[in-house]
Amino acid sequence: MNKHVFMFDDTDANGKELLGGKGANLAEMTRIGLPVPYGFTISTKACNAFYEAGEQLPADVKEQVDTALEKLEKTTGKGLGDRENPLLVSVRSGAVFSMPGMMDTVLNLGMNDETVVSMAELTGEPRFAYDSYRRFIQMFSDVVLGVDSEKFERKIETHKQLHGFSADPDLSASDWKTLIKQFQTIVEQETGRAFPQDPCEQMILAIQAVFGSWNNDRAQLYRKWHGIPGHLGTAVNIQSMVFGNTGNDSGTGVAFSRNPSTGESKLYGEYLINAQGEDVVAGIRTPQAIETLRDSMPDVYQTFAETCRRLENHYRDMQDIEFTIERGKLFILQTRNGKRTAEASVRIAVDMHEEEILTKDEALMRVDPEQLGQLLHRRIDETSSFEVLAKGLPASPGAATGKVVFSADDAEDKKAAGVPVILVRPETTPDDIHGIIAAEAVVTTRGGMTSHAAVVARGMGKACISGCSDVSIDLANKTFSVGSTEVSYLETVTINGGTGELMLGELTMADPELSDEFHRLLAWADDRKHLGIRTNSDTPDDAARALAFGAEGIGLCRTEHMFMDPERIPVVREMILALTSADRQQALDRLLPMQADDFRGIFETMGSRPVTIRLLDPPLHEFLPDKEELIKETAQLEITDPASNELKTKKELLREVRRLDESNPMLGHRGCRLAMVYPEIYAMQVEAIMHAAIDRAADGAAVRPEIMIPLVGHVNELKAMRRLVKESADRVLNETGEYVAYTIGTMIEVPRAALTADAIAAEADFFSFGTNDLTQTTFGYSRDDAENKFLQRYIDDETLADNPFMVLDSEGVGELVKIGVEKGRSVKEQLKTGICGEHGGETSSIAFCHAQRLDYISCSPYRVPLARLAAAQAAVVEQTGAAKEKINV
Ligand code: ADP
Ligand code: MG
Ligand code: MG
Repeated sequence: MNKHVFMFDDTDANGKELLGGKGANLAEMTRIGLPVPYGFTISTKACNAFYEAGEQLPADVKEQVDTALEKLEKTTGKGLGDRENPLLVSVRSGAVFSMPGMMDTVLNLGMNDETVVSMAELTGEPRFAYDSYRRFIQMFSDVVLGVDSEKFERKIETHKQLHGFSADPDLSASDWKTLIKQFQTIVEQETGRAFPQDPCEQMILAIQAVFGSWNNDRAQLYRKWHGIPGHLGTAVNIQSMVFGNTGNDSGTGVAFSRNPSTGESKLYGEYLINAQGEDVVAGIRTPQAIETLRDSMPDVYQTFAETCRRLENHYRDMQDIEFTIERGKLFILQTRNGKRTAEASVRIAVDMHEEEILTKDEALMRVDPEQLGQLLHRRIDETSSFEVLAKGLPASPGAATGKVVFSADDAEDKKAAGVPVILVRPETTPDDIHGIIAAEAVVTTRGGMTSHAAVVARGMGKACISGCSDVSIDLANKTFSVGSTEVSYLETVTINGGTGELMLGELTMADPELSDEFHRLLAWADDRKHLGIRTNSDTPDDAARALAFGAEGIGLCRTEHMFMDPERIPVVREMILALTSADRQQALDRLLPMQADDFRGIFETMGSRPVTIRLLDPPLHEFLPDKEELIKETAQLEITDPASNELKTKKELLREVRRLDESNPMLGHRGCRLAMVYPEIYAMQVEAIMHAAIDRAADGAAVRPEIMIPLVGHVNELKAMRRLVKESADRVLNETGEYVAYTIGTMIEVPRAALTADAIAAEADFFSFGTNDLTQTTFGYSRDDAENKFLQRYIDDETLADNPFMVLDSEGVGELVKIGVEKGRSVKEQLKTGICGEHGGETSSIAFCHAQRLDYISCSPYRVPLARLAAAQAAVVEQTGAAKEKINV
């Protein structure tokens, strides 16, 4: 028989895969002797069994639950449904990767009309007992029976108004008794049966509901965003209850062992006196900072601070801890590796190495390369003048500008229409997840740094301000006000999540400021990695940015955009439309000095670092006007001005556009095929490169141009191109009497090139795998058509695991890269190889390139830090077998 249920102190209970993160850590904390209320975990396998059985708890799982419950009763000395001494439990979801609030939890289970009476007697606090019972009815009805909790809240409101109460604590035991009757009537009306009184039935229903919540909409959405597979399932934890709502010597809270926003090594958290679990996270009341506990309950604070330190040392990572104080006694209800911003992630990793908790390799593995992008974003220029409208808690750093919306649905609609939005809410709940995904940033007026909005935003790397109590929202009229200032729906605001400040309008932005820790971590990465990291940059500005981010050279400098410059495009068109090669040469002669200028700028920026320049690649029609437009314009002129010269020119142009029109431009007359027919184009580009290089060399710089031929499929193409490039380059060298070393290489981006790489290598000084085109030509997909028409479908139904244009398809495209490298090196052992597709900036593709022993990857400037770290991690994983952790999912 499969073991599906594990007591917290079971010795064979281990592993997040089986117990979920929450369950595994509850067991671990029990084992190391922390005060954890006792209980048991029903495994994620049981969740899968539940779904296989048609959303029913299989009999063997039920049996094991019964046995575990008996043990729990024996250990606690209480009984589920026992009149004398009732056991109350929570039924908690807990997946392998934590998904805060996405699935359901039920507290106070085991209460019914009888146990509430004994609880009132036992505690001598009837108010507390009946308050707990009504909370249970509300939660259970919502989660398990599907009754809208609004219905209950309305009854409470009415009751308060009727009796002139202003807040929940004003209600007495008998008020709650009255409301409980009303609640039970609602349940009967809504579900057609009485509220279940049998605690065992309650438990089975709750377990099934929690398993069922694995597939609710918000959980699916959250998984999709974070790339968590759907087959993992959730575990369920049954845990005896402790109560933070038994008076002023009780409370509940959440704390991080370090600041999850900045990484500062200081206990960081919040709590509420006389409250139950959910209250802090739900952001209904803005809680108190943890430091104040030092004054209000010094002993508890002391124990808690020690426990946090202990947990951090045990797990060797920053912890996110849930606790409850029941009548002055501390209980730990959950711990997990805390979700954190990129800034915190980097700082914590570096600090923990300095504190000798982590080795350098471990510190490198701690930071998710994907997260680094957050640190490179522009920030608000603090030297510009702006006025702060409101200030809240700096819940998640980053600057964001957008239009104000007040609901998750509006956020989603506007985003779909291309409007960046800032979601402003009193608080967010897990049901708002689609709105948070759509928004640039989130502002809540209530809730603390550990509220739902704050946790989720940090996990997603979005800016967030919480507890912004200066702001009062009028949801009905879709406005908010701060003092006398009113801000309406779709007005533009800017927020700074690092300071908690909200400003009107759009502000001036400045370049990012990178921390010392960032530079330190990436310097460690550079020491560790084998791959060279280059950048795809076409302009001196881009190149300079990439250098600042640590690029070691340019792996792909495209020359086509240089042709698109509005001043040049007429000359480019003349060149394309030229009838004779003499005419074409004339146009090219005019383009030459302009191109030389482009390259001079780039060489200047790159100094003696290698610069790979790809000669013209796209089909020529891309430089001509759009055909449809042209047809429209000629038709118009036929009517208004049939005799004009303009019409004549337009018609000629149209004829030429039609002539160059292709049915499959992606597979058409482009790349080296252009220069096979019009060699003078490449000749001009090579001359421009050499002139620029010579100029720089004259200034004493050791420029290193690498001239790259695109879209080679047959060695004879490369032979011809090599001859052409060499002739043109040497002509310049001879004419000027200068010398500059240059190399000639090729892109490998069609399967035939990879398959015949040995022949091709004989003509090439280097290979650069153009994995964008190689993916198109290997799959036979045209990228735009695929992405617009069917790729998403393929990913949703798992026909493909990933979008192959984002994650290198290691089995197919990767196989060609492998063959290309092997065959190439079989001819030239030292053949330099790299990749320059977008995959060069994607973590798992970088690991693939590392494994193939490529010399370098090239990616866009903003991906360079990611690539440095990912390359280092690939080296660490290969050498030590270390596993990669995903902290923020
Ligand atoms: P989530 O995964 O959404 O955080 P949890 O299962 O952690 O959901 O539970 C929600 C809240 O209820 C938490 O604040 C938790 O501390 C509290 N809670 C859960 N179980 C108990 C318990 N046995 N006693 C007291 N509070 C509990
Ligand atoms: Mg929790
Ligand atoms: Mg290409």
